[in-house]
Amino acid sequence: MDLFDSNSSERASLPRNMIENSMFEEEPDVVDLAKDSTAFPTFPALDPDEVTYEPRSSRLLVRGLGENDMDDDEEDCESSARLLGMSFMNRSSAHRSNSSPYTRQAPPRSCSRPSSRTIVVCVLFLVIVASVTMVFYFLPGCTFTKAGCRKPNKTNPMEPVYPISTNGDLFPWAQLRLPQSIKPLSYDLTLNPDLDKMTFTGRTVINMSILHSTNRIVFHGANINITKATFKLGDGQASDVTVLEYKPRQQLAVNFSEELKAGQYCVLTMEYSANFSNAYDGFYNSSYIDEDGNKRVLAATQFEPLSARKAFPCFDEPAFKATFLIKISRKKTYMTLSNMPKAKSTNLSNGLVQDEFEKTSINMSTYLVAFIVADFTPNTKNVSETQVSVYSVPEKNGHTEYALTITSKLLEFYNNFFDINYPLKKLDLVAIPDFLAGAMENWGLITFRETTLLVGKKSSLLEKQVVASVIAHELAHQWFGNLVTMRWWNDLWLNEGFATYMEYMSLQEVSPDLETGNLFLSVRFRALDKDALNSSHAVSTDVNTTEQVEEMFDSVSYEKGASILLMLNASFPGDQQFRKGIIEYLKQFSGLNTDTDDLWNSLTQVLSTHHMNVSQMMTSWTSQKGFPLVTVNLMGNQVTLTQEHFLLTSDNTTHTSSLWNIPVTYVNDSCSLAPECRQVFTLKNKSDTFKLSKNVTWLKLNYKNTGFYIVDYGKDGWSVLTQALISNVGVLTHEDRASLIHNIFALSRLGRVPFRQVLNLLKYVSADTETSPVTEALLQLNNIYRQLEKRQESNLASRMKNFIMIKFRNLMANQTWEEEENVSKQELRSALLEMACSLNDENCIQQATSLFKKYMQSNGSLRIPGDLQQTVFTVAGQSDETWDALFNIYAHATYDSEKRKMLKGLASTQNPQRLVQILLSGLSGSLIQTQELPLVISTMCQSFAGCLFAWDFIQENWDRLIEKFPIGSFAIQTIIKSVTFQSSTQVQAFFSGLKERGSQMRSVQEALETIKLNQRWMDRNLPTLRRWL
Ligand SMILES: [Zn+2]
Repeated sequence: MDLFDSNSSERASLPRNMIENSMFEEEPDVVDLAKDSTAFPTFPALDPDEVTYEPRSSRLLVRGLGENDMDDDEEDCESSARLLGMSFMNRSSAHRSNSSPYTRQAPPRSCSRPSSRTIVVCVLFLVIVASVTMVFYFLPGCTFTKAGCRKPNKTNPMEPVYPISTNGDLFPWAQLRLPQSIKPLSYDLTLNPDLDKMTFTGRTVINMSILHSTNRIVFHGANINITKATFKLGDGQASDVTVLEYKPRQQLAVNFSEELKAGQYCVLTMEYSANFSNAYDGFYNSSYIDEDGNKRVLAATQFEPLSARKAFPCFDEPAFKATFLIKISRKKTYMTLSNMPKAKSTNLSNGLVQDEFEKTSINMSTYLVAFIVADFTPNTKNVSETQVSVYSVPEKNGHTEYALTITSKLLEFYNNFFDINYPLKKLDLVAIPDFLAGAMENWGLITFRETTLLVGKKSSLLEKQVVASVIAHELAHQWFGNLVTMRWWNDLWLNEGFATYMEYMSLQEVSPDLETGNLFLSVRFRALDKDALNSSHAVSTDVNTTEQVEEMFDSVSYEKGASILLMLNASFPGDQQFRKGIIEYLKQFSGLNTDTDDLWNSLTQVLSTHHMNVSQMMTSWTSQKGFPLVTVNLMGNQVTLTQEHFLLTSDNTTHTSSLWNIPVTYVNDSCSLAPECRQVFTLKNKSDTFKLSKNVTWLKLNYKNTGFYIVDYGKDGWSVLTQALISNVGVLTHEDRASLIHNIFALSRLGRVPFRQVLNLLKYVSADTETSPVTEALLQLNNIYRQLEKRQESNLASRMKNFIMIKFRNLMANQTWEEEENVSKQELRSALLEMACSLNDENCIQQATSLFKKYMQSNGSLRIPGDLQQTVFTVAGQSDETWDALFNIYAHATYDSEKRKMLKGLASTQNPQRLVQILLSGLSGSLIQTQELPLVISTMCQSFAGCLFAWDFIQENWDRLIEKFPIGSFAIQTIIKSVTFQSSTQVQAFFSGLKERGSQMRSVQEALETIKLNQRWMDRNLPTLRRWL
């Protein structure tokens, strides 16, 4: 899936063993229970009407505490006590609401140096808790039930607590993950969507194999109403069965009085009905307005990660791969699409047509199944053995040509690069008018937003870059994700990190004119910024609740995943070694599921040398959160490197003993530009020393920033590098200059480098004209400017504005307002002019206003260069008169990418009434599509005033927001990230009040940390800013 970060114009415990014995099935996992409060939905302590009391839970809870993922140093008795208290509270509230799939144990906040009184209170508290626990443990479980004690079950004294099904029967499964005793082999799906009534009926036949003898079949289903179910064992007769449902975990089950024996085959057939989903997942309805102004409805699917179960009952975990045969009925005026080519169409007696698709030729995970009922038209071409088609609504078919061309090139590239041909006969790419993510890699039927697939003939290369990147990402998934799939969502990075890495790598080969290098570099900087926070997580991490599954779709899985693959690839001379390794991995696991260890083991076999053990090195990057800060000390020809965790905490109390296996690269003053200059030293210990062959004046570490770490050169080291750049900008590559700028700002944030040193480095920057260093400096300075604005330090803010304008005035003045061919120059120009206009530079505002007027007068015939559109529309959004005009154009515009830039322009207004108008339109989905709300909110939050309205709106409409966007999803993460303009007290108060409606999201912790860190940085550096600006 591509997340399409709408805001940026820059753009573990191991999973349980798959083959578990039946004893293990009976035994809820200890750690899972402690971490996942949904594992306690039937905690019976206080309500005697519920199922039998099971005291073992208390013991599990206490044991689970020792295994939470706190850092050792921060785990003191106070936080433990708090945690313990919280766990009890969570548990009972989960019990009371009885429908809280979204509760999760709060991550502990560290509390340094507890007072002696606190310690005494803690100890007392723990003693009391321990005593109560012991009492509960030794009491018979049935003491508090009305029914009293049942006959003791002597054969199985550890029977888990089963929840209650919707019909009042005991539901035979008590875990989030499904049992492993039954394996689905194939699905026959028949779907009958009714686009007038917005409902559908379905029939699902699941052929299964029994791996371990069992009395139950447990699978998934959500919001579907099963009307009939039959079961057939082996060659026996089919008979009616009752399907039980446990809603909080979206699970269905069938109980059997007689054991199903291992080695047998069976068939479960279910008929059901459901409504189309109103959100953007499951089988959902969508619509668009055609050229004649008529509303056209359609239905499409989005199943990743957890929504296949909303369209048909299934074993909805990535490891349950099976084949699919799909039939869909439609009106004659519609067409249907699914993963496979259409096999036949049959006229039905009710006047409808039923399309049947070929059975999938390979096993695939449920989240990759897809189908669409619409009236789209294709643009088709044959590439090798594959028929490639790009579909859109009929009137936008002219915008599909570029996608078709670049897809063809990329498909040939990947077929060759992976040495495995794309395995299906057809590949459809479909632009869907209502679509939340950027795109979704469904096998053979990739779905996109219109913005990420359609470009007009006149579009600039920068607009094509967006489309090409998303297509490259989704195509890479056809191998990484579809052919070889992560076993469980904890290793999502195996899908997303790889697809993100391949997206940049493939385009550098296939379409170098798109210059994706700058984009990838800035993506790595942002990944570092996020991973520096204490709230970050390891690349491969525990995932025990549905909310945690959603949260895995974040920058750690995508961008950090891609960054560490780049680092690994860059550790070898040439590209071929790494390529050989991943071909080996793909061939070894083709059609199967893997975890992170499988990847490293596979690469280790091919790539390890006596210098480097791939598995050892890479595990240090995937199993620990964060990344290292490498400090370098140069004395003559002797170099000392030291590593520590680069950890931003707002209270400076948390330290970790994490160590990484770092392939440190470096260049020096006598050879610093060519790849041959680069040397490598692997730093495995806390500190290490090595000798250079001769004395050097300076070293630049992390050549071209291909490593995922930050470097501190020490006071003298920074001064020497600064001097070298002042004398000659070209002494380092532009990536290295950008890396120095990024790193020094990060070090200032960490409190390691005084801000004067930062300003010192920026002395050279007026002479820099390359995109990546200039845009990085602009972004960092803008960040400080916005913080000053927020603190209402208007005098300092205006001095900062002058500082920025002085640094970049010449470069800004050199920009033209005509079409520009070169992507890198477009990126530079759009960053500079957006900044100039946002700082109210007169010349910029005047040029933008005049261009907008010409655009209005031309009635749409004049095209504003793609990279300037955002600047022009944002300026237009500032005055009441042009805002109305822009809104009018927006309402009638059809081209999605341009439309989104207009929307950002509209949302940047400071007029309260208009702000409210936009937010409400977005919520109702009337003039502004609801899928654009995250974009609207994050744009508003670029300014202090706008953000106040957005914040009120978020609070008032939280429940409606999470109806549309799942808790933890990327859309919600984007919305929460926006609120860092608020006070931490307000943010904390609001989110902690949400309880299971989102209080435990990692992004809330991130937002809170960021607010506090910004505040701390300002408190520390205001005097310096006052003195030096
Ligand atoms: Zn993806």
